[in-house]
Amino acid sequence: MASRNRVNGAAAEVKQIGRPPKLGQNFLTDRGTAEKVVAALGDMSRETVVEIGPGKGALTSLLAAGAGKLIAIELDRVLAAQLRMKYAPRAKVEIIEGDILKIDLSTVLGPRPGALAGLAPAPPRKVQVIGNIPYYITSDILLRLFSYCAHFDKIVIMVQKEVADRIAAKPGGKEYGLLSATAQLYANVEKLFTVPPEAFAPPPKVDSAVLRLTVAPQFERLNVPEREFIDFLKLGFGQKRKTLVNNLKPGYGAEPVKAALKKAGMRADSRSETLPLEKAAAVFRMLQGKEVS
Ligand code: SAM
Repeated sequence: MASRNRVNGAAAEVKQIGRPPKLGQNFLTDRGTAEKVVAALGDMSRETVVEIGPGKGALTSLLAAGAGKLIAIELDRVLAAQLRMKYAPRAKVEIIEGDILKIDLSTVLGPRPGALAGLAPAPPRKVQVIGNIPYYITSDILLRLFSYCAHFDKIVIMVQKEVADRIAAKPGGKEYGLLSATAQLYANVEKLFTVPPEAFAPPPKVDSAVLRLTVAPQFERLNVPEREFIDFLKLGFGQKRKTLVNNLKPGYGAEPVKAALKKAGMRADSRSETLPLEKAAAVFRMLQGKEVS
């Protein structure tokens, strides 16, 4: 399992606009939007769903009605207590007061002590994740989820629109960067719809967008080791204005990088934002000396 540190270079990419409210608390008030966000998970009647930051429960009530089991993780003590009281009679709803960036999700999602403890466990089903998440820690949350990616198969999140555009960006445009490459290494990313500030109270200063990430780690397909390849991407995307050769030469030397780019069919003055993951993997493998032909 990847540690969070392996990928957290991407976190530095998200710039904040304005000063966010305490804990990013812009609560969704538009019922139609809440229904659309929850519908993006598809049929969840037999699934376990983890909600990040349930807040005042705009998504939670729909999830509690529709999911096979709901685990909601809220950092704000008062909001968590209110939700716990509200859902106390519902055995399939669990409210956890905790920090999504610190909580051990393997423990939360793993087998619990109880009547069946000691029996051979069935292989755990993958769970779904959903959240209108605090925007100021979007990258940290995503990277945290990726570090537990073996547990998840679908992640639906509402984020700042500008950040959604970057997470979903394809190589070649100016929005493509380390955050896009990292997200797309772990998941197929779909940008579903945008949401205006008026759908929230208080309204955020930015538009929002909903993403669906279908978890599908690409390391095997690309034939690259997870940690080393992410370190390589961090170096390659190090400084956006520099060419790949200039970014990568402290690690590999300029001439080997130029030769690898040429073999991969890329120009010597290519920049990281033009590099598709497949080409990045080919260059990486050549520089590791594993594919020199
Ligand atoms: N889901 C609710 C909604 O749609 O109205 C609330 C969304 S609000 C944008 C983000 C929520 O995440 C807040 O309730 C906030 O207290 C909670 N939160 C902030 N940081 C958190 C963290 N590190 N772990 C868990 N919850 C967090």
